[in-house]
Amino acid sequence: MHGRSRRTDEGSDELFFGPFRRIVKARLKQPLAGAQWSGITTRLAERLLETGAVDAVLTMKPDPEDRWRPVPTIVTQASDMKDCRGMRMGYAPLLALLEPAAVAGHKRLAVIGIPCQIYALRALEEELGLDRLYVIGTPCSDNTTTENFHSFLSLMAERPETVSYLEFRADYHVEMRFDDGSQQEIPFLKLPLSKLPGDFFPLTCRTCVDYTNSLADITVGYMGGEGEQWLIVRNDRGEELLSLLGEEVQTNPVGSRGQRHKHVIGFLRNVERAAGGLPLRSMPDFMRPIVAWLMPRIGPKGQEFARARVEMKAVETVLHLRHAMPNKMKNMVPDHVWTLVEKYGLTRRNGE
Ligand SMILES: Cc1cc2nc3c(=O)[nH]c(=O)nc-3n(C[C@H](O)[C@H](O)[C@H](O)COP(=O)(O)OP(=O)(O)OC[C@H]3O[C@@H](n4cnc5c(N)ncnc54)[C@H](O)[C@@H]3O)c2cc1C
Repeated sequence: MHGRSRRTDEGSDELFFGPFRRIVKARLKQPLAGAQWSGITTRLAERLLETGAVDAVLTMKPDPEDRWRPVPTIVTQASDMKDCRGMRMGYAPLLALLEPAAVAGHKRLAVIGIPCQIYALRALEEELGLDRLYVIGTPCSDNTTTENFHSFLSLMAERPETVSYLEFRADYHVEMRFDDGSQQEIPFLKLPLSKLPGDFFPLTCRTCVDYTNSLADITVGYMGGEGEQWLIVRNDRGEELLSLLGEEVQTNPVGSRGQRHKHVIGFLRNVERAAGGLPLRSMPDFMRPIVAWLMPRIGPKGQEFARARVEMKAVETVLHLRHAMPNKMKNMVPDHVWTLVEKYGLTRRNGE
């Protein structure tokens, strides 16, 4: 779909983020209420429906009984896209909608999905016989069951049922919003991560090698956006999608600051312990406020933050898979992931 594979030469950001034409920071000039960030994902889908470029959009809406549970849905009216805004933690069979969409006669589709959904979609694309397919991807670091996510919320908030929004921001804080309009920002270091069970994130997520959704036409995330959204436009169709927003979107060049190396090393040491069954190393309590204050100031930012997170995922893949399912290494770890982890002393062993 991009006409080529990623460039892997030294200094190319494609090694981290997959093939792209351009990467920009962006935001809707009029942010959409209820969206996870400014709502670029929703607006792209609305524009596709408004302009008649597609017959239907496949995406997720919240379960009416549980706002954190994603439910796959086929949207045919632009005005219905507003019900899908926001991020929900959980798995749901998005691609099971391909059959009902075909039965309904929809030949021009858009799909919004996380990397594992888009990977499967691309594998099926040829046999779907569609006239047109637009793929809007979001990055995904990790996902878990909605039940697990509720346990996490109950560790995070006194009244977890009132949490209406949660995001792991690129400034090393989790932002939570509540039904009464209040808001809380918690530094990563103060998160109750050591209280979560070792299998909180399943092995499939801990060994995922496509954080940035490299098979999408456009990836809409936030990780390199320094507080704004972060767009990876990957091919012609991605450019076509972004152009649908016209003057509604403001784009800016991405920035990059700091050095990721020692942060990735620190992460690697902790994953080595976790993969070996040892508890996550926790920092002495008196240090936490100091480091929590320092991180947003000294930690990598913008593109360098995004590179750090991709390298951390690559480190996790190698260490967790090597520990849990070593026989899968040779089929599940692509070459570029080895290139990413090489500088941290992780290299292919015999049979890998
Ligand atoms: C589990 C998960 C982990 C993520 N991790 C990261 C990350 O580490 N870094 C990063 O930059 N971005 C991540 N994202 C994406 C991010 O949360 C925003 O969705 C994205 O930045 C788009 O913002 P927006 O305002 O344009 O979205 P909106 O306009 O609010 O639209 C969000 C879209 O995402 C869909 N969606 C919501 N939940 C799910 C789900 N569980 N599965 C599939 N689709 C869903 C909605 O149906 C909606 O169409 C993650 C998303 C998910 C679902």
